[in-house]
Amino acid sequence: MATLYIVATPIGNLKDITFRAVEILKTVDCILCEDTRTTKVLLNTYDIHVPTMSYHAQSALSRTEDIISMLKDGKNLALVSDAGTPCISDPGSALLSLVRKECNEDEVMIVPIPGPSAFVTLLSAGGLDTSSFVFLGFLPHKKGRETLFKEIATAPRTMVFYESPHRIMKTLASLASVLSDSPRRVLVGRELTKLFEQIISGTAGEMFSYFENNPDKVRGEFVVAVEAV
Ligand code: SAM
Repeated sequence: MATLYIVATPIGNLKDITFRAVEILKTVDCILCEDTRTTKVLLNTYDIHVPTMSYHAQSALSRTEDIISMLKDGKNLALVSDAGTPCISDPGSALLSLVRKECNEDEVMIVPIPGPSAFVTLLSAGGLDTSSFVFLGFLPHKKGRETLFKEIATAPRTMVFYESPHRIMKTLASLASVLSDSPRRVLVGRELTKLFEQIISGTAGEMFSYFENNPDKVRGEFVVAVEAV
């Protein structure tokens, strides 16, 4: 029976990978990557010389079919994303959903190899209530965006989401507007585990002002968490 390993990789610091992940990446027949060039940096660091193949949400159907035939032929594969845990807010989930649809459980075993994920990394250091929280992935750009901010404003649970450097100011401005008279803490994690890692917190207004006054910090990768009501 073939195995498809879902292998978590670092979100920045290349040392954040498990022994088990390295061992599996060294022994599979092929590594399915979101972007082979990004993953090659990791593979070179750990002296892993296994063939790679790219997959992507926009991948031609034929590529997905190739991957499914490899599994049906008994090949062991590893699925990785550019960073973190595959299939969490990234294109791996579309591929995995097809594999689960097309392959029987007695044909392919799907085995998760856990590791870092950006939102858990922020929550682990944030000091917010994590007994229950809602992960929103990336916020919608248009439809449903306003309603979502209203939901965040009254949420009884910690809310956490991903944001790009191009949209972080717009998002912090919206948070500052819906939380204008609230002391609730907003936590911003930037470039987690990387050289310029930053975790800052304050009211939504304070977070907006901080980045407005420090435009050099409006770059890199962001996770935002909002304290529960
Ligand atoms: N699968 C990944 C995970 O497990 O975290 C998430 C993939 S998603 C396509 C990429 C987003 O995750 C980025 O746009 C950013 O919001 C967040 N992210 C990834 N790495 C990060 C880091 N080192 N610091 C802060 N945010 C990060």
